[in-house]
Order: sequence, then structure tokens, then C-alpha cells
Amino acid sequence: MSIIIQKFGGTSVATPEKIHAAARRIIATKLQSHQMVVVVSAMGHTTDELLDMANRIAPNPPKRELDQLLATGEQVTIALLAMAIHSQGHEAISFTGPQIGLITDAVHSKARIREIDKQRILTELTAGKIVIVAGFQGMTVDGHITTLGRGGSNASMVALGAVLGAEACENFTDVDGVFTADPRIVPEARKIEQISYDEMMELSSVGAGVLQTRAVEFAKKYNVRIHVRNSAGNAPGTWIIAETKSMEDIVVSGCALKKELTRVTLKGIPDRPGVVARLFTVVGERHIVVDDIIQNVLDDKTANISFTVEHGDLADLKPAVDQVLAELGGHATYEKDLAKVSVIGVGMKQATGVASTMFTALADKNINIQNISTSEIRISCTVANTDAAEALRAVHRAFNLDRSAVTV
Ligand code: ASP
Ligand code: MG
Repeated sequence: MSIIIQKFGGTSVATPEKIHAAARRIIATKLQSHQMVVVVSAMGHTTDELLDMANRIAPNPPKRELDQLLATGEQVTIALLAMAIHSQGHEAISFTGPQIGLITDAVHSKARIREIDKQRILTELTAGKIVIVAGFQGMTVDGHITTLGRGGSNASMVALGAVLGAEACENFTDVDGVFTADPRIVPEARKIEQISYDEMMELSSVGAGVLQTRAVEFAKKYNVRIHVRNSAGNAPGTWIIAETKSMEDIVVSGCALKKELTRVTLKGIPDRPGVVARLFTVVGERHIVVDDIIQNVLDDKTANISFTVEHGDLADLKPAVDQVLAELGGHATYEKDLAKVSVIGVGMKQATGVASTMFTALADKNINIQNISTSEIRISCTVANTDAAEALRAVHRAFNLDRSAVTV
């Protein structure tokens, strides 16, 4: 019998009625001869509310205790969902992350999964039960509860899909799938039927909120097929799968916007070997993700280095930058209120003219490009936050993303 993982995000389990609806769907899928493993998020905005509560107690609470608190959200949902399934006449058993031996590293609030003891799950599946697992949480080898970063239930889903060799992971959410752009900003955005892991990784990392980048990275590594679907209704959503030949015919598959970025520039630091390594080692030790690194070497044997970080990481970043400046000299500036518009597509590897189409679209709207960065399948432009929405719409239109076939 094949195993299907179904994951329900916060909005899909926000109320008792929605929990019952999720239970009906899980049972219906089980009755199609599948073994069911279900991963759930905390109900509605619970995680935000818990965070808020913590911040009202103390401005910068210890991360271990924050994880201890946030993990409670998912524990509520698993128990309620198991009760809903029981009341509908089927057997279910709920587990927290620690109860299924989901071991992570010790990086509180951003922990990475190391292993899962699948035996306990398999035993319950063999006994005919639906297994419900709390997403977003795990435990260190020393028994401290950890969480996997915001949106981390997806990482739980994919990890379970990988260790259990699931046929597919169905990710139920409140949107119809992955879109060519955020439909709240670009009304003519279209649902994408299938997208490659690489494209999805790039899209998530530059702001498409559907799936955590790390979860997609993991799905690629273990070839776990993900189907992102709306929990309201039965329409097919977007499949995230390995790259297929036909995907290369589409030059640009989608575009995305990441707002609330800060550009940090270190000026007047020495131009010699080891300086950049030192800077990013200190920053990396604080688990801060940096992007768009640019170095300029000046005539006077000093260098300027810029990079962008998310606003949320600034409080952690500043002490790191101060430490490096104290060692090396120089000074730092912080430019807030930046955004990044990106276009993504595996077909870009073969195509020409993608960059010029994007730059022209922005120029036509008189939008100033501040930084440009690229990968093999992505081009990103940093613009002012205030230009961001218009920039996204302009780029979406320039690549005809409202229509299915895209040529440059
Ligand atoms: N409840 C957690 C969050 O809101 C994890 C998740 O939803 O995936 O980030
Ligand atoms: Mg959530």
C-alpha cells in the first residue's frame, strides 16, 4: 500500500469546521487504499499570537524557551484532528515531533532535521491507523524542543515523505497552487501546473511564500513529489517535481517579490586576503542569510562590501558587523526599505535577451535598479520598496506571464 502525506497549513485547520473538513479529506484518501500520514501546522494565526505573547513578556526571550512555547501550537492541532477523525468513525493517533524521534540540530528557531525514527509511524500505519504528526517541531539529541523556522511544517512534511518513501506529499493551503506572481499584487497571475524543484527553490528564496526554500531543497534531494493544493475544493494545484524536458520551452516560469530588505555596506575595509572570509564567518555564525554580495576595490587599497539581509535579521546582524569593524576598521551604513524583483525559469539557461527584457520593463516605468544579481535560472533587481509592486506587474507583463507560452 502506498503512503500519502497530507499537510494542512494554519488556515486549513483554523476552525473546528475546517479541522473536520480536513478529517473528511484524510479519510476519503485513506479509503482509496492509501496509508495516511498527516502533518499539521498550528491553527490560524496561533504561531504569531504566541510570538506576540512572548514579546509582551520580554523583548528578546531566550530562543530555547521561545521554541518550547511555539511548539505548543502544533500540539493543539494534532490532538484536535485525531479527535475529529475518531468522531468520523476512523482510527487516528497523534504524535509530537519528539514522539516520533524527529531529531534536529541545536539551532533554536531555525533547526535542521537530522533524522526521524520511522518505526513508530510504520507500526501504527500497519495497525490501520491514520498517523498525525505535529509539523514545525523536533528535538535535539539532548531532549530540547526545537522549531524549524517559520513555515517549517513543510520541512516536516518533506522529511516524512523522504523517510517513508511516500508516493506524494499533498500540501493543503489557502491558495490554488503556485502562481506566476503573487495574485494579490498581480491580478492577472496564472496558476502554474508544474514547476521544477530548482525553479521552486529560487522562487521561494526570492519571496514566493508558498513553500519554505529548505523544504524544496530537501524534496529535490530525496525526489519527493509535492502537490500544492487548495484545501477548499478538489481542483488540482501545482506539482513540484524533477525537471522535465518540456519545462525548458518556457523561458520565464514565474516572478516574485521580496520586500523589507536592508542593504548593508561596509566601507573602507582593508583589501587583503581573509577579510571577506572573516566578515561572512562572523555573520554565518549567527545563522543570518545574506544575499547579493558585491565588493568594490578602490584605488586606496580599501574595499567596500555590500550585501542584503531581511529586516528581521538586522538586530542579530548589527553586533556581528560591529565586531568585524572593530577588528578591521572601516564603517557601516544601512539602507532600509529595499525590495527585490526576480524572474525565474529553467528555460533561461538556453535563452538570450531575458535580462534586457526585464531591465527595459523597469526602465519603461521609470523604476531605478539599484543592484542586479543572477543565477543560472534567475535574474533579480533590487528596487525601492515603494516601486516594488509596480515593478512586479511590469515584469510579469513583459514576459507575457498572463499567457501560458512564453517567448522573449
Ligand atoms: N506554525 C508555524 C508557522 O506559522 C509553522 C508552519 O505553519 O509551517 O510558521
Ligand atoms: Mg502557520
